[in-house]
Amino acid sequence: MYHSEYSVHQIQHIIQAEGIIPLPNTLIRTLAFDSRKLSDEHHTLFFALNGRRNGEAYIKEAYNKGLRNFVVRHNFKDSSSFPDANFLLVENPLEALQMLATAQRRLFDRPVIAITGSNGKTIVKEWLYQLLGHYKRVIRSPKSYNSQIGVPISVWNIGEDHDLAIIEAGISLKDEMDALAGIIQPTIGVLTNIGEAHNEGFASKEAKLKEKLKLFADVDLFVYSPKYMEGIHPPGRRQFSWAFKQTADLCIIRQDDNQNNGTTLTALFKEREMTCNLPFKDAASIENVVCCWAVLLALDYDPHIVVQWLEKLHTVNMRMELKKGIHNCSVIDDSYSLDLSSLGIALDFLNQQKQHSKKTLILSDIPETGIPPRILYQQVADLLRSKQVDRLIGVGDDISAFSSLFQLEKQFFTDTQSLLSAISDIALNDEAILLKGARKFKFEHISKILTQKVHETILEINLSALEANLNHYKAKLKPGVKLMAMVKAFSYGSGSYEIANILQFNRVDYLAVAYADEGVSLRQAGITLPIMVMNPDVDGFETMIENDLEPEIYSLRVMNSFFNALSSANRTNYPVHIKLDTGMHRLGFAPEEIEALLALISEDNRVTVRSAFSHLTSSEDDSSDHFTRQQIDLFSAMTSKLESTLGYSIIKHIANTSAISRLPEAQFDMVRLGIGLYGIDSSHSLDNSALETVARLVTCVSQIKELRKGDTVGYNRRGVMMHDGKVATVKIGYADGYNRKLGNGIGHMLINGHLVPTIGSICMDMCMLDVTDIPVEEGDEVIVFDSRHTVSHIARQLETIPYEILTGISQRVKRVYYYE
Ligand SMILES: *Cc1c(COP(=O)(O)O)cnc(C)c1O
Repeated sequence: MYHSEYSVHQIQHIIQAEGIIPLPNTLIRTLAFDSRKLSDEHHTLFFALNGRRNGEAYIKEAYNKGLRNFVVRHNFKDSSSFPDANFLLVENPLEALQMLATAQRRLFDRPVIAITGSNGKTIVKEWLYQLLGHYKRVIRSPKSYNSQIGVPISVWNIGEDHDLAIIEAGISLKDEMDALAGIIQPTIGVLTNIGEAHNEGFASKEAKLKEKLKLFADVDLFVYSPKYMEGIHPPGRRQFSWAFKQTADLCIIRQDDNQNNGTTLTALFKEREMTCNLPFKDAASIENVVCCWAVLLALDYDPHIVVQWLEKLHTVNMRMELKKGIHNCSVIDDSYSLDLSSLGIALDFLNQQKQHSKKTLILSDIPETGIPPRILYQQVADLLRSKQVDRLIGVGDDISAFSSLFQLEKQFFTDTQSLLSAISDIALNDEAILLKGARKFKFEHISKILTQKVHETILEINLSALEANLNHYKAKLKPGVKLMAMVKAFSYGSGSYEIANILQFNRVDYLAVAYADEGVSLRQAGITLPIMVMNPDVDGFETMIENDLEPEIYSLRVMNSFFNALSSANRTNYPVHIKLDTGMHRLGFAPEEIEALLALISEDNRVTVRSAFSHLTSSEDDSSDHFTRQQIDLFSAMTSKLESTLGYSIIKHIANTSAISRLPEAQFDMVRLGIGLYGIDSSHSLDNSALETVARLVTCVSQIKELRKGDTVGYNRRGVMMHDGKVATVKIGYADGYNRKLGNGIGHMLINGHLVPTIGSICMDMCMLDVTDIPVEEGDEVIVFDSRHTVSHIARQLETIPYEILTGISQRVKRVYYYE
């Protein structure tokens, strides 16, 4: 009952590979390209794709995890080092992956919906899945698997037990869509909104749209809004359009707020008026609903019933959230959908949490998969084994009925309520807990009990955005250049091991912290990457050595005392990093001190100089490039001297974020990426459009007061109402890191999409906003900064730099991490 099952021999034929194939009859059910995320190892085919690093570099890791089937480039030489493994040799492994998916697609003769657009693709996909699921057995691409790799992996999973497939397609470069169109071969096309996202790779908005429309060249039905067509003729044998207050097959003629804090839409379809009460208010959700509505009408479902289903849609929270839990646990909450592929993705995230040695999964019944339960739960059991879960807490009748399939520490409950009543008896201690429940099991109740009460000001950290930013900079590196990620000062205010785990998972080469204690906590949380400590403290040398933390050596005094510590610890060849002063005049050896340093270390086997580095004073500022070049030249000269006297090569690094963007010649052997990871780069144009915003600071309204003109607000009556109106008190103050200089109308926050000014002085734990004329209720969310109202903007208002704002957010503000 696997959706796809081919022998290696069949696959060899499909992808036209040559090969070294000792075991041609091995059955393949799963495709993989990431050696960190493997399951079903005996039936997996691994594609060594050439990303930023040669995929072949990961074959060893995959082989050690038990994989025996590989697709590699035909000049691959190492196959003899991997006995008993099948190697399929092809010109281009990515194309081979796509060919295989294309073959699988050809076997499916039922409708395939393809969705593309700039925004809303994933939501529209999830909603169509919910809506069409009332009528058919639907398969959809997992999470946002919409790329050149994600699409073939999604298509591979389409099988005979499905009536309909929904596949999301995203492109960021010209000419990518042809490949995706060939793999998906959609029969129905859906275009969501076209915005500004990913303009970089295209000459114009129209060029981008034309590229996207290639996906739909052969469809039977195309669903779109004329608003996004830029006058281009819509493709497809049949079209169905939707629009707001503009002629279309489905036309929204009115939009009103309703009592349930939602929106009532009045629409015209085939000259009949219909109304639909939605539980949403925001423009993006409403537009996405209308897009789904149009698809269902275009497919001829009964308009009355369609409205009923639409009214039952709920917000899709695609976030996988990581929170601090009770008894020193970490809780990952991923309850928006439950099927095997999303379970696999969530287990991979669980595996990244190195701060606990024990991993527990709380899992409900998996509904509506179309797979017979015994086979389904056997697949789940296999998955848990290969992802090395330590304990399963199963909730529901089905999973309980198959409890004997699971070979691990386990406990079962018939429903969420009985788990909740027993929860105080279950020992949950210092472990990582993944909550994965189908919606009707209401796992949010479990989540509430397992996570600590949250002070209502939260710094939300988007780990997917952080990864995207990391990849943005990695793509700028010359081949072989290493990357050190700066996680000092709580990763610029964003967190500690939570960020380090992601960086370790993404295989950065080095981490750097400011103080030894930061490094020690990373070690305790299971971080094994090499860590450089920039401000090593003589008193802390012993702990540093115990924890394999590598000091920055910036003076002879520091070197001498570190030598003493190494002697007491009886250590030799300990890695150290030499800081060179090329013009910052902060820490480091001046050019004239190099001789003395070399005299001290070159004949001493207690240390090995792992790297030598310096810091640029003005890397973001092109008017200082002359000075920057001098620093770079001086750095080259000083490091050559070090290397020639020491007689071995050392890693040389000088570039921080802005230098990576602006000065390729500064890359040397490694770069030190700091603030760019967090989505800010002072050398980019003000909007930083190539980077993704990582941090969002949100709080909420505690109280609203109606005030009259002339009333005063806050300490010393500094705020004065210039009109009759209302004021909202919100739960953030200077003790949270909201600068007092932002009081009295200087600072602004976003409430329900409106930017409103502060009024009166900022207090220690709260402040007041003038909310006259905007819709707001007590308890509403207030955004202090996000991707629209940015940290950079606030920094400019305060005449400081974004670094200070980010690192100034106090530790009492809870951090919540999430993955999209
Ligand atoms: C903080 C720091 C960096 C990172 O700088 P960004 O501008 O945040 O990229 C690099 N090198 C040193 C020595 C630092 O202290």
